[in-house]
Amino acid sequence: MTQMSDKKFNGLSVPAGEKIRFADGKPQCPDRPIIPFIEGDGTGPDIWQATKRVLDAAVIKAYAGKRSIAWFEVFAGEKANKHFGSWLPEDSIKAIREFGVAIKGPLTTPIGGGMRSLNVTLRQIFDLYCCVRPVKYFAGVPSPVVAPEKLDVVIFRENTEDVYAGIEYPIDSAEAKQLIELIASFGKTIRPDSGIGIKPISRFGSQRLVRRAIQYALEHNRRTVTLVHKGNIMKFTEGAFRDWGYQLAASEFASSWVSEETLHTEFQDRLPPGKVIVNDRIADSMFQQVLSRPEEYSVLATANLNGDYLSDACAAQVGGLGIAPGANIGDDCAIFEATHGTAPKYAGLDMVNPGSVILSGAMMLEFLGWVEAKEIVHDALGKTIQKKTVTYDFARMMSGATQLRTSEFGLAIIDNMVG
Ligand code: NAP
Repeated sequence: MTQMSDKKFNGLSVPAGEKIRFADGKPQCPDRPIIPFIEGDGTGPDIWQATKRVLDAAVIKAYAGKRSIAWFEVFAGEKANKHFGSWLPEDSIKAIREFGVAIKGPLTTPIGGGMRSLNVTLRQIFDLYCCVRPVKYFAGVPSPVVAPEKLDVVIFRENTEDVYAGIEYPIDSAEAKQLIELIASFGKTIRPDSGIGIKPISRFGSQRLVRRAIQYALEHNRRTVTLVHKGNIMKFTEGAFRDWGYQLAASEFASSWVSEETLHTEFQDRLPPGKVIVNDRIADSMFQQVLSRPEEYSVLATANLNGDYLSDACAAQVGGLGIAPGANIGDDCAIFEATHGTAPKYAGLDMVNPGSVILSGAMMLEFLGWVEAKEIVHDALGKTIQKKTVTYDFARMMSGATQLRTSEFGLAIIDNMVG
């Protein structure tokens, strides 16, 4: 039974529906989940309108009214600042915590004010330790490589540690000076005019990320999980990431993982059903491999900084930087989001490509177990691009394309849906 809650967030009543609960890090989705959305700044409102229509249409096509989403607006960014005097109101945080799964458009990074970025802040508040970026080619998308369809990877990037965690001290600061002295007492020299960044990588943080990557590979019949690292140089952080990954595979997936060596010696290079290969590659080699042997890779597990570079490089390879989807996932919360920014110069022009948020929404449907609806979105988006009915960003790179507005592109996707 779905019912109205009497709770309010930011003064808004919650629509009739039910909460998504988490058990063992997995969502338990009712037939009418309440899903908070943040429409986003700049081009966010245009993109969100198109996305909502597409996702609702796919759910109707897939489940004929048996399932639906109770969307609930929460506020962050410029809109929140304007209406509530805060870039991230406490009630928005409470609503996301209450309902567990949310989706957001791009948000402006506030200049000054002590917040690094709203996206980073949300990841930290909800301990969304796993950044997931699937990279897959849609036929017809202009790409810089000859065979973009050969790359089909899902990147699991650690989201909370590494040099990216923001433990940094500027040149001449008291903290930098103190750290330089401390390191000197270990017998190592750092130039006095240095800024200092700390690169912590923990066993706990690495293993919970690798666990999710292996679970995903097994659940989705993916052949390999590749641990990407720079362990030849940074042995106790990057190298440890690799070692802890293998240890985790051996202790928690003993009957379902094989190393490259075992695959060769025991299984004559034929992977038995229900098993996954866990291997590793040095990060610089990985960048070459995704270009030269893309078909050999499937799931990539990386620490934070390597994953940042690799996600965008892979997305660019399939021409999809503008439509790349993403999710930040923790054990009791997940936020699906645009990977591009607010593109402020196009705000309100109904012009930009909503593909990134639409595909993030499709990821969300899959995460909730609504795989049929996700497939409908993917098929219809693929057809729309193949028909060369696209937004300006693709139209300018395709010959013979029909340029559509954001809203028209959304409607074209809906027209191309087959249930
Ligand atoms: P941006 O908003 O990503 O825009 C850079 C350029 O990328 C745009 O001018 C446009 O290129 C293209 N682009 C972006 N989104 C597009 C879309 N949906 N469809 C088609 N083309 C698109 O980057 P920015 O200008 O550096 O950042 C603007 C604001 O967004 C900043 O406040 C930044 O902090 C924030 N930001 C937020 C997120 C997030 O919320 N996840 C991520 C990155 C940045 P052309 O002009 O060449 O067409």
